[in-house]
Amino acid sequence: MQYEAVIGLEVHAQLSTNTKIFCRCSTNFGSEPNSQTCPVCLGLPGSLPVLNKKAVEFAIKTGLALNSRIASYTRFARKNYFYPDLPKNYQISQYELPICEGGYIEISVDEKPKRINLTRIHLEEDAGKNIHDAKNPFSLVDLNRTGVPLMEIVSEPDIRTPQEASEYMKKLRTILRYIEVCDGNMEQGSLRCDANVSVRPVGQKEFGVKVELKNMNSFKYVEKALEYEIKRQIEILQDGGKIIQETRLFDANSSRTYSMRSKEEAHDYRYFPDPDLVPVIINDEMIQEIMSGLPELPDKKISRFITDYNLTNYDAEILASDKYLAGWFEEVVRCGVNPKTAANWIINELLKFLNEDDKTISDTPIKPQQLANLIRMIEKGVISGKIAKTVFHEMYQTGNEPDAIVTQKGLVQISDTETIQKTIDEILAANPKEVERYKNGETKLLGFFAGQVMKVTKGKANPQMVNEILKKRLS
Ligand code: ADP
Ligand code: ZN
Ligand code: MG
Repeated sequence: MQYEAVIGLEVHAQLSTNTKIFCRCSTNFGSEPNSQTCPVCLGLPGSLPVLNKKAVEFAIKTGLALNSRIASYTRFARKNYFYPDLPKNYQISQYELPICEGGYIEISVDEKPKRINLTRIHLEEDAGKNIHDAKNPFSLVDLNRTGVPLMEIVSEPDIRTPQEASEYMKKLRTILRYIEVCDGNMEQGSLRCDANVSVRPVGQKEFGVKVELKNMNSFKYVEKALEYEIKRQIEILQDGGKIIQETRLFDANSSRTYSMRSKEEAHDYRYFPDPDLVPVIINDEMIQEIMSGLPELPDKKISRFITDYNLTNYDAEILASDKYLAGWFEEVVRCGVNPKTAANWIINELLKFLNEDDKTISDTPIKPQQLANLIRMIEKGVISGKIAKTVFHEMYQTGNEPDAIVTQKGLVQISDTETIQKTIDEILAANPKEVERYKNGETKLLGFFAGQVMKVTKGKANPQMVNEILKKRLS
């Protein structure tokens, strides 16, 4: 029997607000434990939460970017449970009446678009962090993260493969970064994903029993955890067994999932509306204002790059994967150079260096204008394409102007016929056997001679001229 997987993702995105969702404490990451706390986020009796307007705006912005319906009336609920990282013994979240409902994210499957529908987006506060250190006979609690705003984005069970799941995550992350509501850092936990997965015989309409997977802090791990889990579930069913509804943890070392808790142990959260917070009314004016501040979104940018600049879909997707990278590219183009040439330099050279150094476009010392200047120097024949790569590497390391580097290092292309001719004659004289073979029909030796000329001139000879003169001399 053939089985297919059914997957739905619950993604938690930490909002990039300066302050927490219900108090004025800083959301800064990595500070001294418990230095960013106050009576509200410590859950002290008598303290009252006040909603951060920015968090609401960010959720609306996200809803608009993801094609959701924005609620005109939304409210907060208490999700009750006991855990040492939760000082109030309840988390302020949303239950009925979330801030956004519906919407979708479009991903590409086998080069065809596929819509993954969204159930809802709601706001909630993050919990603190328990620190267990084997050196100590006790655990520590850091409440700096308590009350940091989170947005939970829940998808419908529309995803069918681990690849689709990671495509969905990547697309979501790109959009959240475009609209600047979340930095999308999965390793630091600013973007977290719980994956729900079940399997069913192909053709069956009803869903199978689902398992919830946690603890995947990269796209790769989301895929790996799902691959393992789908295989595990299919094997159980094929052996005549039953899937137990449970939560399982992914272990990156073994690439396996392990049972954490079963449904019997699942929480009953006793949700109820939080009496400390008034319901939020969202009017059209506020929605319109946020809508008008939305940037051009990735899909639109990709199609514009393809039509306006004649880029391939592949190139356009890479350049539009980051709003700042796309902007950098367009600045190079605005300097008047060929867009395809600019795209090639950015994708093959600049991104290669940045990836190697684990950096992003904002870290490059090169200015768009400087890359444009370099490209013009090649077009004018001042330097060869090959030398240009050396110059570019130097630009990447120093941020210096390309013409300054070329002058300083004496890299100007030799385009003077006499000098090239003289070098060629020397090389032909030094390799009489090869000349003989060439004349007997081994024309591919032209490359050998050209290579020798380049070696002697340290790559500075104009390659076209070298080829032309070589052919002439050898005929
Ligand atoms: P729960 O009540 O356990 O929180 P929900 O119905 O709220 O479950 O769904 C949580 C997530 O699980 C959603 O992303 C949803 O798309 C997904 N989901 C629901 N049922 C299934 C299923 N049978 N198989 C896979 N995913 C599912
Ligand atoms: Zn606080
Ligand atoms: Mg649910």
